[in-house]
Amino acid sequence: MYLHIDMDYFFAQAEEIRRPMLKGKIIIVCVYSGRTEDSGVVSTVNYPGREIGIHSGMPIAFAKKRAPPADSVFLPVDREYYAELSFSIDAIIRGRCAKAVQASIDEWNVEDEGGEAKARELKEAIKQGVGLMCTIGVAPSPLGAKMAAAKAKPDGLLVLDKDSERKFIEGSLVEKVPGIGPKTAAALNEVGVEKVRDIRKLDPVMLAETFGKKSGAWLHALGSGVYGEGIGEEKEQEEVSRIGTLKEKTRDGYMILAKLSELEKDARDWLMEMKKSYKTMGIIFVTDDLKTHTKSMSFRNPRTWSEDLTKEKEALVNEFLSENPLEVRRVGIRFGNFMDLGGQTTLF
Ligand SMILES: [Mg+2]
Repeated sequence: MYLHIDMDYFFAQAEEIRRPMLKGKIIIVCVYSGRTEDSGVVSTVNYPGREIGIHSGMPIAFAKKRAPPADSVFLPVDREYYAELSFSIDAIIRGRCAKAVQASIDEWNVEDEGGEAKARELKEAIKQGVGLMCTIGVAPSPLGAKMAAAKAKPDGLLVLDKDSERKFIEGSLVEKVPGIGPKTAAALNEVGVEKVRDIRKLDPVMLAETFGKKSGAWLHALGSGVYGEGIGEEKEQEEVSRIGTLKEKTRDGYMILAKLSELEKDARDWLMEMKKSYKTMGIIFVTDDLKTHTKSMSFRNPRTWSEDLTKEKEALVNEFLSENPLEVRRVGIRFGNFMDLGGQTTLF
């Protein structure tokens, strides 16, 4: 079976869990362009906000007109923080599934025989581990799983078997199918196709002529109830990071460095195993106000997993502490900008 895991209103939910006093408010996470105070667009909004018609992509100024000021909070995106959560969720999923591929910052495709029981286990583990809810679709095809997840939001679980999957997909509007963009949907509507089951009426040659060989064949298969298989391969990882919570909030550089050394071991093991060298090293600090900061440095020549970076880490930690007056709650270390060491071994 295939599972599609999708975090619910991810950025806004992430803000809810770190600021519990926002519970019940309309949370609008925005990408501010900085031109004027309100220039930019809405990135994610929670469900109370969706109910009053605020949606992602909407200009911030429009959202402000709809949102009652007393019950609404506008926040800037904090990608570092969301990426950290995403990393933790990824670890939870990978530790429990036969095969998992991360599809975006808040979506995973999984192949696992566990089916519904596995989906329940994952929902619970993610809730326990990071405090976030998600929706999971389970189906015999990856397409069915993804569409089931979209249908069951939020905090949902929808399990389809062969028959119910076919019924569900055939009854869906074509524009609801991932892979069918607005242009294709409009072209299909024009020839009388509203739902997936209508595609069957179309001649495969005409489909290939109208949409190209590849898309035409894909649409024909879709209309015939062939939904594909496999979750694809992982995009190559571009960095490795590990984050952890300090025993207590602190501004003590030695405590921070000790925690970093502990976290670092795992990241270095990964570098060794994957035969990667890196050109940047970064330290992540989560301060008492729950803001995430990073300090990083780049090296002219790639470094290997075994190289000692004590001095460099000390310098970054001291630099951060001198610039920021708050106590630190969580720290992390990140290695990035990889180069393969694999090729070099043949030189010797
Ligand atoms: Mg999502």
